[in-house]
Amino acid sequence: MRPVASVSLDLDNLWAYLKTHGDPAWERRPSFLPSAVPRLLDVFGEHGLTTTVFVVGADAERDDGAGAVAAITAAGHEVANHSFGHEPWLHRYSPAELDDEVARAERAIVAAGAPKPTGFRGPGYSVTPQLLDVLTRRGYRYDASVLPTWIGPLARAYHNRTAGPDSGATDLFGGFGKVRAPNQAYRWRAGGLVELPVTTMPLLRVPIHGAYLLQLHQISPRLARGYFRTALRLCRATGAGQSLLLHPTDVLAAAEAPGMEFFPGMAVPGGEKVALLGWVLSSLRRHFDVVGTGEHVARLDGTALRERDPVACG
Ligand SMILES: [Zn+2]
Repeated sequence: MRPVASVSLDLDNLWAYLKTHGDPAWERRPSFLPSAVPRLLDVFGEHGLTTTVFVVGADAERDDGAGAVAAITAAGHEVANHSFGHEPWLHRYSPAELDDEVARAERAIVAAGAPKPTGFRGPGYSVTPQLLDVLTRRGYRYDASVLPTWIGPLARAYHNRTAGPDSGATDLFGGFGKVRAPNQAYRWRAGGLVELPVTTMPLLRVPIHGAYLLQLHQISPRLARGYFRTALRLCRATGAGQSLLLHPTDVLAAAEAPGMEFFPGMAVPGGEKVALLGWVLSSLRRHFDVVGTGEHVARLDGTALRERDPVACG
């Protein structure tokens, strides 16, 4: 049997990027979902892929976001919870605030026509025991928030250097400790929730998702493809499986995301981005049975997963 891999998309909207970046333009809630969602659904359809889309509750409450949720659900993809307000500093919330954050997003997603989500991904690549507790109580099957990489402190330094003074995000992206977190699925000992980490390059533990590939593509398209091929080879050799994370910016041109010129890879033309994504997805399908994260977790659930205590991952 072929090994399983998953593809998921965090439906981060333009306003969410601007908010994290400290750009006051976010308050007008600019949206690029009407450009991004049909294009992404086309690419998935061309490759015959069923994926998981992590939706932000505040978007699902608006017309364009609700339309996106309905289109994603109609195309057969799983809709999962990506918090209500997309605040990367979720780890500072009280348990009651966390519960409200998860519940509000759930309500908005269900009202837009999707089944009640059973998967969650936090906006800041971190989980806390409090969050896991909320998810377990609310009947979630899995969390997919962890990005097991050592670049968190570097990403934070970059963020603090480029973001506005009001971004308030001095403790983003976790610490160096996350490099010790496993690169494949495990089970949280308390509550039994499955964690499906976003796969990073085995051994080197550097990210392999869109923005990083696009940065390499800006230097050389061959370099980007060589990097992803190496990642696939190492994932197969180490049995790490693969859970690939996508974002709307993986298919959008700079002109479609005004204010995001600071973002890595934004200078790559939209058509080239779509072509690179198509190549990535067909490379993945050549070696793996590719499903959404919920189905990935369902297939692993019967197997003996390693267990971990919910500490030291934030
Ligand atoms: Zn996000």
